[in-house]
Amino acid sequence: MNQTLYSPLIFELSHPGRKGYSLPENKWKVAHATEELPETLRRQGGLDTLPEADELTVARHYTNMSGNNFGIDTGFYPLGSCTMKYNPKINEELAALPGFTELHPDADDADVQGALELYDTLQSALAEIGGMSRFTLNPYAGAHGELTGLMVISSYHRHRGDAKRTKIIVPDSAHGTNPASAAVCGFQVVQVSSTPEGTVDVEALKPLLGDDIAGMMMTNPNTLGIFETRIPEIAKLVHDCGGLMYYDGANLNPMLGVCRPGDMGFDVMHINLHKTFSTPHGGGGPGSGPVGVRSGLEAFLPGPVVEKDPATGLYRRTSKPDSLGSVSSNLGNFGILVRALAWILAMGRENLPLAAKISVLNANYVKENLRDYYALPIEGICKHEFVFDGMRAEYGGSHSDASHITTLEVAKRLLDYGFHAPTIYFPLLFHESMMIEPTESESKETLDKFIDVLKKIALEARETPHLLRTAPQSTPVRRLDDVKAVKDARFTYTPEVN
Ligand SMILES: *Cc1c(COP(=O)(O)O)cnc(C)c1O
Repeated sequence: MNQTLYSPLIFELSHPGRKGYSLPENKWKVAHATEELPETLRRQGGLDTLPEADELTVARHYTNMSGNNFGIDTGFYPLGSCTMKYNPKINEELAALPGFTELHPDADDADVQGALELYDTLQSALAEIGGMSRFTLNPYAGAHGELTGLMVISSYHRHRGDAKRTKIIVPDSAHGTNPASAAVCGFQVVQVSSTPEGTVDVEALKPLLGDDIAGMMMTNPNTLGIFETRIPEIAKLVHDCGGLMYYDGANLNPMLGVCRPGDMGFDVMHINLHKTFSTPHGGGGPGSGPVGVRSGLEAFLPGPVVEKDPATGLYRRTSKPDSLGSVSSNLGNFGILVRALAWILAMGRENLPLAAKISVLNANYVKENLRDYYALPIEGICKHEFVFDGMRAEYGGSHSDASHITTLEVAKRLLDYGFHAPTIYFPLLFHESMMIEPTESESKETLDKFIDVLKKIALEARETPHLLRTAPQSTPVRRLDDVKAVKDARFTYTPEVN
């Protein structure tokens, strides 16, 4: 490819008079379209803001640009907390079946029995996996599930006439969406600290409990990839003070079929179908964050609810009198539900725990192979992901040295070797967090390559640190101003003024 001629970064491909189309002559000689358009609707000037280019140039431009997308289908994507696993292609075909895509949301229940059965089957599969009584599949994302789940908790307290409960406890290791969802739901967020081992500090929790606590949110394994072993004790403390336990199930992957949040004492939970249940995600694409509740809380779930009429055996959509209302249009992102059920059925009861265990094995394999090079702040077996606190001091990662090699530089250098960067600077518990989640779908060969590259980068940091300081060298764009890219994104073409 001729980088200079067809670089996807060159957008100035316009030449006056170039065209990518030719229209046939208007042989019926009907009135010119503009004559029927009212004057006010007619374009006043020419199309001089649109680029003029021939078809071949346009085809090359977009084809070359498409190759700059990094995704799970192009390379290893160890983004911690995101579970970037393989999404089987067959699921895309199933979700695209016209029997699903051509349904109208307002069709009569009698005409969409298959779709409603799919919803109910997935709902009960998730209830079994989570140890819950019933799920709603309506929320659109993890954070949306959190908000919905917290609204269930809020409804529960309000229904009992208990208006004092205005606070939600959130660990300091929590994903940022947890305190955000609690705040959006109108709760006051109370933070509980972690022990040096990275789990919730039960002694620090005790003084926070009281009759103003609506509930506590926990993630397990938490965002450090550590299994919270004291949940039964924590759940008892929270329940004894009248609060409910919320489980952030975005990290459910290593628990699939092995253990269940419901059995640990959680009352309400969400699942990220677009993480654990193999739907392509990233970049804010369509997601799904089903919410499950233990028995006794079903009545508060959002509507519509899908249920089977025992008399007729037919499925129907209904809404319940105590329901918190609607949180989405109709039944949420239905295509995601198709993919999730397809994955669960293809895996089967026997293989879900296998996926969980391999995800744990893979994470520990990467961690143990790299711990001599990268600083491991928390010892012991991790679950599906783990966190390094930057590079070890011997390789230039000493925090006491102001010019130390940073996690950002390691992440940028990884791009040169064709790997997506891990999650960096999260969780906030460490200065140089680098959060790695390999998932169960990566082969040993890929993990070995990743390990070799990270070792190589550590050696480079010691011997040729400028390679890290100036990375990436091989990507079409080098270091961007990340903040400006988010705060001042330009999505439209602006022609250069001559
Ligand atoms: C991804 C994630 C969320 C939020 O899920 P979204 O679908 O991105 O809204 C919440 N908690 C944890 C632990 C996560 O990893």
